Amino acid sequence: MNFRMAPDSIQKLSLLDDAMRFEPAGDQPLAEQTPPAPISRAPKPLPCISEVSTPTGKKPILKAMMTTACERNCFYCPFRAGRSKTQRITYTPDEMARTYDTIQRAGLVDGLFLSSGIIKGGAATQDKIIDTAEILRNHYHYRGYIHLKIMPGADYDQVRRTMQLADRVSINLEGATAERLAALAPKKDFWNELFPRLQWISELRRKEGLRASVVTQFVVGAVGDTDLELLHVSDHLYNQLGLRRTYFMAFNPVSQTPFESLAPVSRQREFRLYQAGFLLRDYGWGVEDMPFLPNGNLPLDIDPKLAWARAHLRDHPIEVNRAERNELLSVPGIGPKTADAIVRARRRQRIREMSHLRSLGLRDVEKAIPYLLLDGRQPTQQLSLWRND
Ligand code: SF4
Repeated sequence: MNFRMAPDSIQKLSLLDDAMRFEPAGDQPLAEQTPPAPISRAPKPLPCISEVSTPTGKKPILKAMMTTACERNCFYCPFRAGRSKTQRITYTPDEMARTYDTIQRAGLVDGLFLSSGIIKGGAATQDKIIDTAEILRNHYHYRGYIHLKIMPGADYDQVRRTMQLADRVSINLEGATAERLAALAPKKDFWNELFPRLQWISELRRKEGLRASVVTQFVVGAVGDTDLELLHVSDHLYNQLGLRRTYFMAFNPVSQTPFESLAPVSRQREFRLYQAGFLLRDYGWGVEDMPFLPNGNLPLDIDPKLAWARAHLRDHPIEVNRAERNELLSVPGIGPKTADAIVRARRRQRIREMSHLRSLGLRDVEKAIPYLLLDGRQPTQQLSLWRND
């Protein structure tokens, strides 16, 4: 490789390998698991580079850790203390900043996601993350995208400084409740170390106008947690604390951990949780609208929005020319942009044809047609599809 960087730094990045690929950072977490193409005639990307959707577009992002050593023992984590299969690597802030600057100038990356194992407590670890970002911003004059982790136990001033330096910050709750977290990560404290930091972030955004967006992540399915619990806490985080996104990571067992013999959780469950999360965040749905099964989970075989429509709209289809925006949003295939376009268009003229709806952005006509009326009539040209639904 044609880098002016000590080979040691590249080797260390390679040792991060794809473990970081399972730590989402952007707005399309399911798409982050594919390594990106280089953005210039630079060498082949490293495995710890992912294509990430950021507020300013898709970017190849370096997902890195200050250290893969950790003094904690979370039951699911490849970096937990005492796991001998993990080769531990550690960067100083200078080295991490220099490494990032080098590969960014080489055209391999256009953004940084920086996390860390915990050594000497969360506050000392947070200082190293902050120092790295300060060197990047002040010494290398890097103005691009930075997403920084906030460590459990970081203090208020550290949270503020991290937000000043970053475009996005995250602190992972891991479990939907304090009890679930205790079963996943016995040395993490939901109410003292984690949740208050999300409240501080919300306060700092509101009172000091700090713009960094905030996300969190849950480990799904390892300790009996239900989709109802996960969506309930997500709904609170979206509506009360202004989170940009809650990530759901289907549990996958890691060897040499206490959970190594647990069964992996279906990626389909993760996918359904993301679909339901969109309904909470972007469609104005409440947790009570979700079509939960008696065990508190969503059905795996059907989109939650489609399941709701089948149960509620088959006999009471939505009249497109009269419906409120939130009613339009309950029709499968109609998202926020299409709903807004429909509301604007019908001020000018009544909507009588499916072709008109298509021109307003409705892409999946077959999905929508059984659940809507156009001027009091079911769209006749597609009636056979509706009967077969
Ligand atoms: S604190 Fe983080 S790095 Fe350490 S064991 Fe827990 S999840 Fe892994």
